[in-house]
Amino acid sequence: MANQQIRLKHSDAVADGTMAFHFHKPAGFTFKPGQAVDLVLTDPANPQDEGLRHAFSIVSAPFEDELVFATRMRDSAYKRILRALPAGATAAVDGPFGSLTLHKDRARPAVFIAGGIGITPFMSIVRQAARDRLPQQLLLLYSNRRPEDAAFLDELQTLEKQYDNFHLAATMTEMDKSNRQWQGETALLDATFIQRACLALTAPIYYLAGPPGMVTAMRQTLNGLGVDDDDIRSEDFYGY
Ligand SMILES: Cc1cc2nc3c(=O)[nH]c(=O)nc-3n(C[C@H](O)[C@H](O)[C@H](O)COP(=O)(O)OP(=O)(O)OC[C@H]3O[C@@H](n4cnc5c(N)ncnc54)[C@H](O)[C@@H]3O)c2cc1C
Repeated sequence: MANQQIRLKHSDAVADGTMAFHFHKPAGFTFKPGQAVDLVLTDPANPQDEGLRHAFSIVSAPFEDELVFATRMRDSAYKRILRALPAGATAAVDGPFGSLTLHKDRARPAVFIAGGIGITPFMSIVRQAARDRLPQQLLLLYSNRRPEDAAFLDELQTLEKQYDNFHLAATMTEMDKSNRQWQGETALLDATFIQRACLALTAPIYYLAGPPGMVTAMRQTLNGLGVDDDDIRSEDFYGY
């Protein structure tokens, strides 16, 4: 699919150092929850150039009328342009692409493992599943340092209350650095944590997303627990 122009509606902070960008969804733009696009930005300093592009998983679900992306706002050339983008400004999307989409065998649960910004594709999947009342067990293991760093945590906790098939196991691994209360897990998302969280599940399929180092480590941990690579799907957020 060729580049399609999109217009920024607004942007907002969704966690410390993390922002979400809400764009109008082009008419006829379709995608599967979990997929990604390239977001192409024009460099104001070189407007004639082809622009800078980054891949982003789509946070919003297909039933929603906007395209939302979320990212860690580091001091890179691309993120400086993105941060300065005013409401109403245009960008382009190239896509969708990617195979981090939910398997069809509803009898097999899905276990999503997200570290920090790796939450983005799973937001789309869980929102759509909740909307469709999907008859499938979904478990999200979500690791962050502090609640302040955990994008979409409140929404996920609400979704867990509203949608019986969705369960959230969130863990905060550096609470000594937090100014917030947290009654939940604080353990590292390691083999013991995964075994304990997945105890009641039969033959789940695992989904991993986040920085490549985290994804590789998680895949090795799952292999160590006897999970075959056929039952693991992953998305490496190259660039982190
Ligand atoms: C399918 C997919 C989905 C993604 N979804 C998200 C998302 O939802 N949210 C999010 O924040 N990020 C996502 N990313 C990562 C995103 O594209 C950026 O790479 C990341 O946000 C870092 O951008 P930056 O501007 O901070 O760093 P940059 O300055 O652009 O990159 C930092 C370093 O990484 C290197 N690098 C960049 N891209 C690649 C690459 N493809 N392969 C190898 N090295 C590379 C650069 O050379 C540089 O040295 C995704 C990546 C992929 C492939």
